[in-house]
Amino acid sequence: MNVFQQSRRQLTLYYSLIMAVFLIVLIVVVHQSMEWSMKSEQARELVGTAEYIAGGQEHLMQHPELAEEMEDWRTSSDRLFFYVFDMDGEPINFSRASEQLEPFVIDLISRWDMEAGEVAVKTDRGKRRHVRVMMIAQPMMEDGEQIATVYVGKDVTAMYNGLEKATYSLAGLAVLALAVAAGVGHFLAGKAIVPLIEAYEKQRQFAADASHELRTPLSVVMASADLLEGDPSIKSPFLKQVIGDVRDEVKKMTKLVSDLLFVARSDNQALRLKLSKVDLAADADQTIRLMQPLADKKKITLLREGEASLVAKLDEQKMKQLLLILVDNAVKYTPEGGKVTVRVMSPAAKKIRVEVEDTGIGISEADMERIFDRFFRVDKARSREMGGNGLGLAIAQEIVNLHGGTINVESKVGEGTKFIVALKG
Ligand code: ADP
Repeated sequence: MNVFQQSRRQLTLYYSLIMAVFLIVLIVVVHQSMEWSMKSEQARELVGTAEYIAGGQEHLMQHPELAEEMEDWRTSSDRLFFYVFDMDGEPINFSRASEQLEPFVIDLISRWDMEAGEVAVKTDRGKRRHVRVMMIAQPMMEDGEQIATVYVGKDVTAMYNGLEKATYSLAGLAVLALAVAAGVGHFLAGKAIVPLIEAYEKQRQFAADASHELRTPLSVVMASADLLEGDPSIKSPFLKQVIGDVRDEVKKMTKLVSDLLFVARSDNQALRLKLSKVDLAADADQTIRLMQPLADKKKITLLREGEASLVAKLDEQKMKQLLLILVDNAVKYTPEGGKVTVRVMSPAAKKIRVEVEDTGIGISEADMERIFDRFFRVDKARSREMGGNGLGLAIAQEIVNLHGGTINVESKVGEGTKFIVALKG
C-alpha cells in the first residue's frame, strides 16, 4: 500500500512542479511583454516630443521676438518635462519636472551616459518609494554643429507601480491556481492508481492462496515418498535412487512454498508477532547445534560469542528463523576450513545486537544493495545447487522490520561477510 501512496505523492509533486515552472515562465513572459509594450509606447511619445521641442527651440532661437507668442508651445502634460542646455551646460529653456523629481532629473542630466536618441528608464531608489523617470537626450544642430541638448523626460512611476501591482496579483492568482492544480492532481492520481491497487491486491492474494494450497499436496507427496523409502519390498537400487531424488525435490519445494507463503503474508500484512520473553542467546546456541552437522561436513568452525543469556520480548519462532537464515547462509557461502561466528550482545540497556560473521566468499559492493531483494542471488546456479531460492534475506529483513529493528551487511569479496541485526530489547 505504501508504494502506491508514495507514487501518488510523487505524481502530485512532479505535476505541481511542472505547473509551477509553467506558471513562473508565464508570469515572467507576461510581465516582460507588458513592460515592453508600455515602454515602447511611452518611448515613441518621448521621441516625438523631443523632436518637437528641439524644433520649437530652434525656431525660438532664430526668432526671439516670438517668445511671448510661443509661450504655450511647451508641453501641456504635467508628467512630461524638458530641459534645454547649451554646450556650456547653461539652461536655455525648460519645463520643470515636479519638485520631488527635479533633483534626481538634474543629477541624471549632469552625468548623462546614454547615446543620443536612446530612451532610458532610471530609478531613484533613495526615497521611501521608488521614483522612475523615462528620459531621452536629443542634440540640437546648427550648420552641422551641436549647439545645445534637449533632455525630455516623463514621470513613469505610476505606470511601473501599476505594472508591479498587476504582476503581484498575477502571482497571487498563480499560487491559487497551483494549489488547486495540486489538489486536483492528487485526487486524479488517487483515482488512477485504484485499478492498480486492485490488481496488485488480487496478485498478492493469489500468491498467498496458491502457496497455502500447495502445502497440503506437498506434505502428502512427502509422506508418500517417506513411505516408499521405507518399503522393504522395493529392492531395486535405481528405484531407491528415484525415490530419494523425489524426496529431496519435494523437500526443496516445501521450503520454497513456505518461504513464498511467508513473503505473501508479509505483503498482506497478515503477519503478526507473537511476543514473549525469549532468551536470544539460547536460541543462538540452538541454531548452532542445528547447523553443526552441516558445518562439520565442510570443516567449518562454528563459534558463539557474547552474552550467555539475553532475555527480551521477541517472537521466538521468527527469531529462530532469522538466526537460521543468517547462519545457514554463512555456512553455505564459506569455503571448507572457514569460520563462522555468531555474537549475541547487548551494547546498552534495551539494545540488542546480533552479528553473524563468516570468512567466506564475500559480497561485492554492487550486489550488497540487492541481496535483500526477493529472489536475488549473486550466483543463481551455485545458490540453487545449495538449496537456496533467494528468499532467505528478504524474509530475514521482514522479520527484523516486524520487530522494528535494522539489518545491515558489511562485506569484502574474498575475505568474508558480517550481517548485523540491531533490535530494541
Ligand atoms: P539464497 O537462498 O540464495 O541464499 P538469500 O536471500 O539468503 O538467498 O541470499 C541472497 C544472496 O546473497 C545469496 O544468493 C548470496 O549470493 C548472497 N549471500 C547471502 N549471505 C551471504 C554470505 N554470508 N556470504 C556471501 N554471500 C551471501
